[in-house]
Amino acid sequence: MNERLTRGEVAIIGLARSGVAAARLARREGAQVYASDASADADAGDLETMGVSVQRGGHDLQRIARAGLVVVSPGVPPGAAPVAAARKAKVPVVSEVELALWSLGRARTIAVTGTNGKSTVTALIAHILKSCGAEAIAAGNIGLALSEVALMPNPPAWIALEMSSFQLHDTLSLRPQCGVLTNLAPDHTDRYETVEEYYADKDRLFANANATSAWVTNADDVEVLRRTKRVPGAHRHFSVAGLQVDAQFDKAHDTLMLFGSPLLARGDLPLKGDHNVANALAAALAVASADRAFGTAPARERIAAGLRTFAGLPHRLETVAEGNGVLWINDSKATNVASARVAIEGMTRPAVVLLGGKHKNESYASLAAPLTAHARHVIAYGQSAPLIVADLGGRLGDVPLERLESSFEEVVRRAGEVARPGDAVLLAPACSSFDMFRNYEDRGDTFRRLARAAADGSGA
Ligand code: ADP
Repeated sequence: MNERLTRGEVAIIGLARSGVAAARLARREGAQVYASDASADADAGDLETMGVSVQRGGHDLQRIARAGLVVVSPGVPPGAAPVAAARKAKVPVVSEVELALWSLGRARTIAVTGTNGKSTVTALIAHILKSCGAEAIAAGNIGLALSEVALMPNPPAWIALEMSSFQLHDTLSLRPQCGVLTNLAPDHTDRYETVEEYYADKDRLFANANATSAWVTNADDVEVLRRTKRVPGAHRHFSVAGLQVDAQFDKAHDTLMLFGSPLLARGDLPLKGDHNVANALAAALAVASADRAFGTAPARERIAAGLRTFAGLPHRLETVAEGNGVLWINDSKATNVASARVAIEGMTRPAVVLLGGKHKNESYASLAAPLTAHARHVIAYGQSAPLIVADLGGRLGDVPLERLESSFEEVVRRAGEVARPGDAVLLAPACSSFDMFRNYEDRGDTFRRLARAAADGSGA
């Protein structure tokens, strides 16, 4: 039995999927467990029948201050009241991932963090590992909680582990076979006081670095290079901007290169946009760096096969419909300005671009140039629409910028009206979805449904 779980009650903060799995895991390991969630209708599954003390609609801060260990779910910001109460009382605070790592002692992980591209790279890594014949699973921030993997009777040998900045904050014993930092851009400015604080959490990927560590980082990102320069271990780099590094995009020959020789023709990678070339290079390089067995010539072929057969994730530049010559593309996961920018830059057709949602304190001004180059028409909607218009108004050349104060249905209907044959309609909101939807999946699913109806002419 893990003695860190038996020094007193284990308090689990947050009862979404990860929190429920963490409570179940702590219980299996013999702990007394109290689990609480701010929401009155949090779904605690079968926790109560397992003997977990469940509180919905708030947290008992005094009880948390008396706990032997506090486990925070990924959605809980580091400064949230129950976490602050635990820290004030000097109760050790760990992430749900940390708890799972304690039970997954022998697991081999490739950990992925960064502002954008985490899920795509994580899913690609798991897919490539499988293509190389390894047992692998994608877990962490990508949907399957690491505690759920720890609860499996036979966890797979390899875990591609997506880590958000919040998860990294309280994960102390992460020692990945290879760690990947995709890129850094301002995000979560609504949840962190400063960008530096957010980046500092990302740095925690490297907290246990030593001479035997392996790291894969983005050579095109100066902030990434600056922050990783002095991290111990072997560093490998990827670039789509023409740098001669371990994994690079040779634009002249439209080829993805690994260690100086061709890996895959660009046309064989079934994902849109140069940012996805970066994601593919990062994933291939991470697998090749994680174990000698994946660095051989036959493994190289299998890495390429993995890239060729990756289907892509929903809500990331996902083609959801085509009709009347118009392609409808769902990039609902573009929840910050940097991710919306790469989506717009990845358009090979004139695009009707839908921007809007809940504002995250970022300026939209950097979208002016890519919109001027790629957009047919821009529609700003939702809570942030006035701010989008204030930042972009008069800066898009001939491209019309229209503000709609109507429902999302009306926004999609209007997009179909202004799109011409040969165009794309791109949902790349640059905002979170919480003004109109439960989450980005709900927004993307709604868009997919409305787009299909528009494309087959049946109306919304
Ligand atoms: P994350 O898990 O970090 O949010 P995803 O792979 O889910 O990343 O992609 C989220 C959005 O970010 C996508 O919809 C896409 O527009 C954008 N994106 C994906 N990869 C990159 C990248 N390498 N650089 C910048 N933006 C990216």
